[in-house]
Amino acid sequence: MAETAEKYTCAVVPCADYSEAGAALARAIGAIDGLGFVRPGMRIVIKANLVAPLPPSACATTHPSLVAALTRMLTERGAAVTVGDSPGGVFTPASLEHNYRVTGMTEAEKVGAKLNLNTASHTVSIDGAAMKRLTYTDYLDDCDAIIDFAKLKAHGMVGMSAAVKNMYGVIPGLIKPETHYLYPEVDDFADMLVDINEHFRPRLSLIDAVDGMEGNGPTAGTPRHIGAVIAALTPYEADAVAARLIALDERGVPTLAAARRRGLCGELKDIALYGDPEAVRVADFASVPRQSISFLKGSRFDFVGGIVQKALEQRPKPVPNRCISCGKCMRLCPAKAIEMRPTRGKKTPRIDRKKCIRCFCCQEFCPEAAMLVHRSWIVRLLQK
Ligand code: SF4
Ligand code: SF4
Repeated sequence: MAETAEKYTCAVVPCADYSEAGAALARAIGAIDGLGFVRPGMRIVIKANLVAPLPPSACATTHPSLVAALTRMLTERGAAVTVGDSPGGVFTPASLEHNYRVTGMTEAEKVGAKLNLNTASHTVSIDGAAMKRLTYTDYLDDCDAIIDFAKLKAHGMVGMSAAVKNMYGVIPGLIKPETHYLYPEVDDFADMLVDINEHFRPRLSLIDAVDGMEGNGPTAGTPRHIGAVIAALTPYEADAVAARLIALDERGVPTLAAARRRGLCGELKDIALYGDPEAVRVADFASVPRQSISFLKGSRFDFVGGIVQKALEQRPKPVPNRCISCGKCMRLCPAKAIEMRPTRGKKTPRIDRKKCIRCFCCQEFCPEAAMLVHRSWIVRLLQK
């Protein structure tokens, strides 16, 4: 550890539960002087993860006690705070109000935050490595700084959802699947996520890793206690620590690999880190390893060819007995790979594997957790 607080750029602070999360957050932010940029009168957006209208107990969204604690810290410094996100699906004031109620963001409103209801968006040209045109929500232009406040979860396509992935929520809900379709390969998608982060450059990146989500994340997985709060000056440093907490190999996280290719971050060992990730590491966290089986490359299993690799790739798999036949997955699928077909007296999704780009939007936004991330038994065996 460095000797003075000024030298830290990232902090991980243990936190047993949400009753003490505000204090842990203050300690993590204080260790890196994360709010040193705030001046009276500044307008600050807290970009939370509000992916779906799910209660805090589901562990899919940033916990309201943490968002409220951050709001208090900011308003004490004289800043005006807006909390927002663009969840999946329709993006209307009514859907946002419902989301804020269910996710508990009204707790932040009570201590002075405004909850964004502006659903307008616009498109700009950007000079990203992968992305050239970005459509994003207007309210992000009405601020002086963005604070990225993510939730730590397993994710079907990029392995984990944390600070870098959270910024995908700048894109309006119904545009997200279309954007996925433009970047069907996981490395391109990761490059695009880094482009978004570089465009907005959040001033501070925070991760709620007190209770995360493992397994079928990022919306239908299982809550898992991790026990930490992370604060960092860049989303890449925050994610490098987050990967460590859930025992993911940071070199295998596509977003971190994309950031490294551009020299935006080093390895965990190079970070001026306050706190010890090993003290809160969950060694048996059920992550979803990256979508393709490229982990085989360079290994003794590298002999498998493209066709075999395709057969072994992770893919979405409907669970008919959980499905309520709402058709949301079919409507959201950017590749038009889903048809609703009669199965056991009701209509359930049938996926055309040739068309599917494995973006996992269907899994992310299924309201009944009836779409799983399927891994072949061979891959499961090899990954043990
Ligand atoms: S979104 Fe889920 S519940 Fe709705 S049709 Fe698709 S699999 Fe079934
Ligand atoms: S079937 Fe699911 S994973 Fe495949 S392209 Fe459609 S939404 Fe994406």
